[in-house]
Amino acid sequence: MFNFNNIIRENIKQLQPYASARDEFNGNANIFLDANENSLGSAWGDRYNRYPDPHQRALKQAIGRLKQTAPENIFIGNGSDECIDLLYRCCCNPGTDNCIICPPTYGMYEVCGRINDIEIRTAPLQEDFQPDLVAIEALTDEHTRILWLCSPNNPSGNCMRRDALLYLLLHFNGLVVIDEAYIDFAAAGSFLPELANYPNLVLLQTLSKAWGLAALRLGMAFASPEIIRVLDKVKPPYNINGATQEIVLEALQQAASVKEKQELLLLERETLRQQLSQLPFVENIFPSDANFLLVKVKDPNRIYAYLLTRGIVVRNRNAITGCTGCLRITVGTPNENEYLMNALINYTNSSV
Ligand SMILES: *Cc1c(COP(=O)(O)O)cnc(C)c1O
Repeated sequence: MFNFNNIIRENIKQLQPYASARDEFNGNANIFLDANENSLGSAWGDRYNRYPDPHQRALKQAIGRLKQTAPENIFIGNGSDECIDLLYRCCCNPGTDNCIICPPTYGMYEVCGRINDIEIRTAPLQEDFQPDLVAIEALTDEHTRILWLCSPNNPSGNCMRRDALLYLLLHFNGLVVIDEAYIDFAAAGSFLPELANYPNLVLLQTLSKAWGLAALRLGMAFASPEIIRVLDKVKPPYNINGATQEIVLEALQQAASVKEKQELLLLERETLRQQLSQLPFVENIFPSDANFLLVKVKDPNRIYAYLLTRGIVVRNRNAITGCTGCLRITVGTPNENEYLMNALINYTNSSV
């Protein structure tokens, strides 16, 4: 049976977290002389001279309302990338523990694991980019702490089958992290409603994609209060800066315009798919539940280089295992997509 207590590293269990000035006193006062801030103001007018809320209370309330999730189930990171790093640091002993990744997938699970000196075991996705349940089970031992899954998956674009994810949540004796960075573009819903049913589930989401706020660096982990408390204990006290907290609180009011953009992107994705499929050098366009298409072409390196000469940069995934021949193309604006298609048609004409 899964017990998060068995997964937390001993040094993290023992850890007395840093108490910031705002932890030791957070009531009302007229004069704050406790945090060595600049009392005269900032280089940016009279703003930002005070440390931001280390617990991001207002933000967690607002995200909780948006996601219909209690603040106790929410961790906010400096991008999902910080959530990934903290999960390693809280749960995996360097040099001893291991985790499982399912390539081709998001590269940070592996890089971040290596930085933390965690053994990376790989259970490649099957040909249809679904998880290989048998391989995952065969790789699991008593030191396996985390299974990293990405749905919709980057770079393939597809969602993992729901029954496969439920099976893994039930049978994998460790944390099952499902990275839902692209979930707002997917036909299937988030696994958020399953949070209460699976104590080993951690969901990652981000404001970098559908919400279009990549520069602000705001990632979210949703999990049991027990897991969230440990992540909060280990994070740097002020990991979400004041400007980000302010701007995101305002931006979260814009759900309607986010939805509009998301719908336009989905329309554009299907137009792009249709047009790309007409090109003679396109061999396959994989199903996508995200804001990009993985496209298998003849001569990917040449097409990639050609597009660069036209000022268009796509992601060359040709060298990635499981993605031979593939370019990953983010859906652009209608104009950008048209420009891309014109370039590719030109490439066709010049290459025959
Ligand atoms: C883009 C992306 C993220 C987002 O990371 P941030 O650090 O929140 O910007 C996370 N996971 C996957 C799979 C992604 O493609």
